[in-house]
Amino acid sequence: MEQKLYIYNTLTRRKEEFVPLHAPHVGMYVCGPTVYGDPHLGHARPAITFDLVFRYLRHLGYKVRYVRNITDVGHLEHDADEGEDKIAKKARVEQLEPMEVAQYYTNRYHKAMEALNVLPPSIEPQASGHIIEQIELVKEILANGYAYESEGSVYFDVAKYNRDHHYGKLSGRNLDDVLNTTRELDGQQEKRNPADFALWKAAQPEHIMRWPSPWSDGFPGWHCECTAMGRKYLGAHFDIHGGGMDLIFPHHECEIAQSVASQGDDMVHYWMHNNMITINGTKMGKSLGNFITLEQFFKGTHPMLSQAYSPMTIRFFILQAHYRGTVDFSNEALQAAEKGMLRLMEAYDNLERIVPAATSTADVSGLRQKCYDAMNDDLNTPMVIAHLFDAAKTINSANDKKASLTADDVAELRSVFDLFLFDLLGMGREQESGNAAREEAYAHAVDMLLEQRMKAKAAKDWTTSDAIRNRLAELGFEVKDTKDGFAWRLLK
Ligand SMILES: [Zn+2]
Repeated sequence: MEQKLYIYNTLTRRKEEFVPLHAPHVGMYVCGPTVYGDPHLGHARPAITFDLVFRYLRHLGYKVRYVRNITDVGHLEHDADEGEDKIAKKARVEQLEPMEVAQYYTNRYHKAMEALNVLPPSIEPQASGHIIEQIELVKEILANGYAYESEGSVYFDVAKYNRDHHYGKLSGRNLDDVLNTTRELDGQQEKRNPADFALWKAAQPEHIMRWPSPWSDGFPGWHCECTAMGRKYLGAHFDIHGGGMDLIFPHHECEIAQSVASQGDDMVHYWMHNNMITINGTKMGKSLGNFITLEQFFKGTHPMLSQAYSPMTIRFFILQAHYRGTVDFSNEALQAAEKGMLRLMEAYDNLERIVPAATSTADVSGLRQKCYDAMNDDLNTPMVIAHLFDAAKTINSANDKKASLTADDVAELRSVFDLFLFDLLGMGREQESGNAAREEAYAHAVDMLLEQRMKAKAAKDWTTSDAIRNRLAELGFEVKDTKDGFAWRLLK
């Protein structure tokens, strides 16, 4: 590979050169959504972050197998595996089959990701389709003595594991910290230690999502699916495991423990985590009234939003921050992002209009490598964007004839924008909102022409009337005279 990529590994707390275990193949697993509600900003950030990783690794020539799961069972209301299953609860409230709920929100999630120009992963496995693999994982952990059965459920024995290994190495905690922050919740009496987590839960009689197992009719603990499906599709050792920082503890810590307790070592080489999103400085939460879904952003239908924000504005806004930094959403910040994005698009369009000169007054030769250097430095997208803004200035002054660029330099600028702005940052030209407004304007122009034709007809000016009609027909418009005037449609 020509470019040397460095990424920050949460496990070692430093930037490391990315060296795949089996180049040119790369395995990447990212925790996907729990499908019980509409996708919101908290879903957009990891999806866009790892879409960027996926796009860049592929660009560097790797053959990437990207697995992003759908959690459709086992994610309880409290991460300490207590409470009701999130999907089963929604199904009960809405009187639907749990799988109807999961399918409905999976479809909604896909639609939103497509709007954000997030590429689909190579494999998108569902937890409910991998119960057998999860039962096998639990059996292995039991056989190795790191789990115990209690009233039909199976729990991971954190204290025993911690005597042989370090529970908390990813999050930088030790077992005492974990115990001090563990809440007393119902069902804890089944556990030997409050820090223990469920690998298998016996289902209560009213629980519909249940499968037979050697221990009880029940369902797997939430953490099992990612270990079992990661191993199934990427092997016992793979390159990257990603997700939001909120998943470091307990979810990813538990995944590491399950992997070591079953196969004897870590499965994952690089752990990558994106930071979280706040809204006007506060955490986003359903109870806080600042919970804004992606659809509400796209349509501007939330009281906190002063306008609609297109999917590309959201994407650009997220990429303007480094993925490990926090992002705070506010109307002002989004409007600034929208302006910035339009400025880059305008500069790109201006490349068309530049009249090439014999010599350039600006040096654009270093731009491409500067953008690569930023990407190679732990995917520093704000830096890439800053370089593109510099380039936009050069383009605009050449377009205003205040500077000059050769044809080669114009081609190079176009190629750098194509690669970094469109292919790697994944910015697309605005479709829905932009096009709709433009089409409306064109439609009004056609109406105006046909009103002129009506006036010509009324004045018996058949030459003008026919000329308008024939010219529109040549352009692909079908025009019909109606009782009240006219109707038209575009036949393409
Ligand atoms: Zn996961």
